[in-house]
Amino acid sequence: MTTPQVSFEFFPPQSLEASFRLWDTVQTLAPLDPRFVSVTYGAGGTTRDLTREAVATLHKSSGLNVAAHLTCVDASKAETLQIAEDFAQAGVSEIVALRGDPPKGSAGFTPHPKGFANSLELISALADTGKFTIRVGAYPEVHPEATDMAANVDWLKRKIEAGASEAITQFFFEAETFLRFRDACAAAGITAPILPGILPIENWKGVRNFAARCGTSVPNWLINAFEKAERDGREDLLATAVCTELCSDLMDEGVDALHFYTLNRPELTRDVCHALGVTPSVRLQNVA
Ligand code: FAD
Repeated sequence: MTTPQVSFEFFPPQSLEASFRLWDTVQTLAPLDPRFVSVTYGAGGTTRDLTREAVATLHKSSGLNVAAHLTCVDASKAETLQIAEDFAQAGVSEIVALRGDPPKGSAGFTPHPKGFANSLELISALADTGKFTIRVGAYPEVHPEATDMAANVDWLKRKIEAGASEAITQFFFEAETFLRFRDACAAAGITAPILPGILPIENWKGVRNFAARCGTSVPNWLINAFEKAERDGREDLLATAVCTELCSDLMDEGVDALHFYTLNRPELTRDVCHALGVTPSVRLQNVA
């Protein structure tokens, strides 16, 4: 089993305290030499300016390869493409292109009257600029809006054909879930790499709510294990063990790159990476 490549997702800070936390997260995880780090774009387009600022700052000061998330929500095509152009001007050439979720309280996704109708249109427009490496979202347990797994996989195939070069999955808790999805994608002729999205369980209650919203199933064995760990006050130990085992099972099946949803809390992600053999690489240029 070789050491996997890793990448990390952050979200843009909305307060001074959160900015310090993000910077601390970056400092903790940067020595693990990530392939890229990505910065989310708030649900409903709410953090547009914060994302832009965080992406530009990270790109300029961290030395990391930064990918900016971009959604179609609540903006015209011209406005969305202008944001992409701003990323390009800041030297950022990687985008995670998404349709996005509607603002809280709305029934479903309604395109802006002059906006992109879906992720395919956004991906094609970004690809046409020739300026970006494009990644997209993928759903091992079927996106809640897809009719079935076949439609879910077919839509991903269309996103790759529209110009994406890699997909990052929604989080899941059992390796089998990802492996079945990977097989279905391969059978449908998808050859682009599919990166498993890994969510270390920092906060069990929060994760359960999040899973319910995303359609991620939470297996009974995990529920039982956390109930017990909560009683004994050892949730962190369990979270590290569960996440390390998931990653290790994936690596046993040939997965060579993992994408961690850090939620700007670096400790668990760092501990899991260390357990997988991803350890700090000190570069001469950084210490000289
Ligand atoms: P798509 O893949 O385009 O659509 C989702 C599903 O809906 C598809 O599987 C398809 O079956 C169905 N579908 C949609 N349109 C059609 C159509 N016209 N015809 C037929 N079927 C259709 N959200 C944010 O707001 N900000 C973020 O930064 C963010 N980052 C994310 C990162 C990752 C890695 C992932 C997996 C998700 C992220 N999300 C983010 C959540 C994402 O915006 C939501 O899951 C959203 O509901 C779907 O976006 P998408 O681009 O993946 O959708």
